[in-house]
Amino acid sequence: MTRKTLEHCRQLDAQDPLRELRHQFDLPPGVTYLDGNSLGVLPRATAARVAEVVTQEWGQGLIRSWNSAGWFDAPRRAGDKIARLVGAGPNQVVATDSTSINLFKVLSAALNMAREDTPQRKTLVSERSNFPTDLYIAEALCRERGCTLKLVEPEQIAESLTPDVAVLMLTHVNYRTGAMHDMAAVSAAAHAAGILTVWDLAHSAGAVPVDLSGAQADFAVGCGYKYLNGGPGAPAFVWVAPRHADRFWQPLAGWWGHIAPFDFSPDYQPAPGITRYLCGTQPMLSMAALECGLDTLLAAELFGGMAALRAKSLALTDLFIELVEQRCADQGLTLATPREHAQRGSQVCLARAAGAYAIVQALIARDVIGDFRAGDGVAHPDILRFGFTPLYIGFEDVWNAVEQLRQVLASGEWQQPEFNQKHAVT
Ligand SMILES: *Cc1c(COP(=O)(O)O)cnc(C)c1O
Repeated sequence: MTRKTLEHCRQLDAQDPLRELRHQFDLPPGVTYLDGNSLGVLPRATAARVAEVVTQEWGQGLIRSWNSAGWFDAPRRAGDKIARLVGAGPNQVVATDSTSINLFKVLSAALNMAREDTPQRKTLVSERSNFPTDLYIAEALCRERGCTLKLVEPEQIAESLTPDVAVLMLTHVNYRTGAMHDMAAVSAAAHAAGILTVWDLAHSAGAVPVDLSGAQADFAVGCGYKYLNGGPGAPAFVWVAPRHADRFWQPLAGWWGHIAPFDFSPDYQPAPGITRYLCGTQPMLSMAALECGLDTLLAAELFGGMAALRAKSLALTDLFIELVEQRCADQGLTLATPREHAQRGSQVCLARAAGAYAIVQALIARDVIGDFRAGDGVAHPDILRFGFTPLYIGFEDVWNAVEQLRQVLASGEWQQPEFNQKHAVT
């Protein structure tokens, strides 16, 4: 393979049909931001829109804005936008609460369904390397319900679909490694074994094409502040297959999920469909920012949508892998992300036996922002994690990130004490 040059990367940017989409964002000058998988960047429209909500809709409209400014419908309106990114239909998604809370709602509904349809099934299966909050929520619910949480390695999922299992809960793209499951195949295997599926799309929505309907998934949740660019702590989302949506109350049966909240009836009657998955009053400032983030993704529909974003994302991650292997060889880095396109999300993770945290800190000091995820010291090593958001990352950014990584490693500057002090958030 010919060695790629900076010139070559600039040519790729010049030919990139999606390059204009970057102008939707306010990226700090000089920063190479490879952490959109943790916190998406600020869209240009957001500050003015949030200011408008504060000064006009809240300041002037006051309580009237729940109707006149469309506040009351915002969770469904944002949900319909998200639906277009994840292969769901209108009125099937709501934006609300956090990923953790939405997971609690859908896991509870799934366990209720299993208790009624297949009472002998009392096990919930997930991956040991799933994002911890998903495992904690599942563990808490299992304790309450007298169910068992069984954690397996990814290669053991097929054999773990046994007759005691009620629910299979997976994160579509693994947060540490970027490995992606085949949602349709896994869902089909689970269904064939009589098991419901719950998918976490935190690292998928806005990052890779998702087809919840086509995969016949049962439940899904996802995150608003990662690839959806909704801002820190943005509302998350929840989808329930229409065939299940009306079957159960969700456990956090607040008034926003009531069929007629403004009847102020003392009895709870769930709204039909996905609306019952709302709980209480929504954070309108955050909801407005989330909608601005979603609009940056929907703008890509003019250029081929998620399929075009996916093609660019794979080109970016392929290039990053190739350049790291050429330019940072013999530096103790190993690829922790699958090379196979069908198994790769929109991030690349590099494992290193030692120094991963300090190397990431040294890169951040050079304005190349990725992040560090701790291993368990046994099966999983520490990793350096780089997210590639095709809406605003270009090929020269990839070149620059690898060049800075090369310099940090070759000079040994990461060994300086200031890069070895741990912060609260990594
Ligand atoms: C980011 C992420 C979350 C975040 O949950 P919050 O409730 O927003 O804190 C949950 N699950 C997965 C898989 C994630 O990647």
